[in-house]
Amino acid sequence: MNPYRQPLNPSRRGVERLPARFESLDERFEPVSGDFELLRLSTGYRWTEGPAYFPAGRYLLFSDAPNDQVLRYDEVTGRTSAFLAPAGYHNGHSVDRQGRLLSCEHGARRVTRTEPDGSLTVLADHYQGKRLNSPNDIVEHGDGSIWFTDPDYGIDTDYEGFAAEQELDGCYLFRVVPGEEPRVACADFERPNGLAFSLDESRLYVADSERAHLRVFDVAPDGTLNGGEVFAECTAGVFDGFRLDAAGRLWCSSAEGVHVYDPDGTLLGKLHVPETVANLTFGGPKRNDLYLTGSTSLYTIRLRVAGAPFPR
Ligand code: MG
Repeated sequence: MNPYRQPLNPSRRGVERLPARFESLDERFEPVSGDFELLRLSTGYRWTEGPAYFPAGRYLLFSDAPNDQVLRYDEVTGRTSAFLAPAGYHNGHSVDRQGRLLSCEHGARRVTRTEPDGSLTVLADHYQGKRLNSPNDIVEHGDGSIWFTDPDYGIDTDYEGFAAEQELDGCYLFRVVPGEEPRVACADFERPNGLAFSLDESRLYVADSERAHLRVFDVAPDGTLNGGEVFAECTAGVFDGFRLDAAGRLWCSSAEGVHVYDPDGTLLGKLHVPETVANLTFGGPKRNDLYLTGSTSLYTIRLRVAGAPFPR
């Protein structure tokens, strides 16, 4: 029997088993599918985001920003519990190459790194003397720089942060070398959102959720970006967070679940999810368990393909 066809946690209480609906749009999608079942691991949240997987502890952290909490799903016990509450309205998360948590915080309008002793290092909270808007999503480059997007969703109302005046004159993509001032990597966005590097880190993909498209940039060794053409237009809602698999395919959130793109820009297929998906990441011992933050719920499905090593 194909081990990939087995439910992950079939006997655990509270896990809802739903039929998995993969939709192939290209023959190259055929090797990509996985379990027959999509598992709803927990539910009852307002808006989930920011999944980040910690291989050493076999757990996943994710945000529920409107409820001002960060949750922790333990892959070993199958339990989800509060990790930070109140959390300061976290949104996106990532795990750096030393296994440290990188956080986007709407409340304090900053990006932070949680050190091994539990202390926080503020990586960025101002640009040229002005407060950031509300950092949304974050990844680390192999050169140690941290890249994050800064739309204004966390300050436009009190829903997932604190309503406040925007101090910057736009919503930018930032690059920050820890210990240095952040610099604007690209200012030409309406609402930059999810982001990820290609496998060799020579390209950077960035979603602009206001424009419902995904752009791709060439990354120079000094971090300068060139290009920025539209890579894909979202056909269901908007792109938010996304991750790459080990073959370089892009697994993108959308209003109908996940849209999977080839690096050449072809929409290969879809994984339908009952709720809008805001973000996703790969986890599990073989990195082939896809975790999805879908509006009110956390979902997972085991795939026949693994995620890229980074970001987590
Ligand atoms: Mg986002």
